[in-house]
Amino acid sequence: YKAKHNRNAVSLYKTEMEMDYLRQLVVEQRLRQALSENGLHMMYQPQMDENGHIVGLEALVRWEDEELGFVSPAEFVQVAEQSGLMLPLGHFVMDTSLREYSKLREQLGHGLDLAINISVIQFEHPSFVEDVLCLLRNYHIPPQELVLEITESLVMTNFDQVLLTIKRLQRQGIRLSMDDFGTGYSSLSLLRDLPIDELKIDKSFVDNMLDDPRAANMIQSILYIARGHNMDVVVEGVELEAQASELALMGCRRFQGYYFSRPERLERIQEMCLVHSKHSRTAEPLPII
Ligand code: C2E
Ligand code: MG
Ligand code: MG
Ligand code: MG
Repeated sequence: YKAKHNRNAVSLYKTEMEMDYLRQLVVEQRLRQALSENGLHMMYQPQMDENGHIVGLEALVRWEDEELGFVSPAEFVQVAEQSGLMLPLGHFVMDTSLREYSKLREQLGHGLDLAINISVIQFEHPSFVEDVLCLLRNYHIPPQELVLEITESLVMTNFDQVLLTIKRLQRQGIRLSMDDFGTGYSSLSLLRDLPIDELKIDKSFVDNMLDDPRAANMIQSILYIARGHNMDVVVEGVELEAQASELALMGCRRFQGYYFSRPERLERIQEMCLVHSKHSRTAEPLPII
């Protein structure tokens, strides 16, 4: 591949741009098929409170293709957004996670928070709010249990429209969470201008917090600002016990990461909830500190 810089060899190799383009075409074509053949599924990653009880779940879409193998959602969500497949993909995610979650809360006898990632393309669709409310009604899920995760890029596109949609959702009791918080260019002005309910501190801060005082300081500052704005905070990407205990000392009260659990199928999540939920009779918390 290096050889593309060698003028004589250049015609034998595809350029990086051509490779990207071909890959994108194949992913698009296979994804289209997967969507029509039920080839995708959902996994759920627990969110823990400061006592190590499971209090929420983030729904994450998964796709294992016969030819391509495992494809990261970070890749195929982007392809979907660029090829008109985001609405069907978004509908699959929303419908499947709400249906599976409704089964779970029935089995458990209580609710949790269910967080679902929403693409800007879904969010800007005129019937988005109605579609969400319709699914909640169908599956008998209280809107107060739903958290929609949006990213900062969403707000760059059409601020007034986004603000209106956020308010309509909140009037119904649905909460809005700003995902990957701190990685965008104008995180602070967003907080000033948008009535967001929750911030998810990006994994990159947690990755560096133990060695880099500046990363730790950023987390501390975000916690401080969130408190002032009456917003909840979730830290994501917690992989180490040392990170979890340090974060707990800083005042974090909601945690998500491999240290507690990887994303799992619903059946496994249900087993975990029966043991680690605060409502379960045996209430056996995962230790944090
Ligand atoms: P995200 O929403 O920020 O999700 C968190 C990602 O971090 C997930 O990757 C999760 O598996 C991973 N993660 C969680 N804890 C840890 C940890 O301790 N260590 C490490 N290394 N990783 C951790 P995933 O599932 O591959 O998703 C990547 C991104 O793709 C998501 O980032 C989200 O932006 C997007 N995505 C995933 N599922 C969906 C979906 O259903 N709809 C939409 N629109 N986007 C989705
Ligand atoms: Mg997310
Ligand atoms: Mg995130
Ligand atoms: Mg992310």
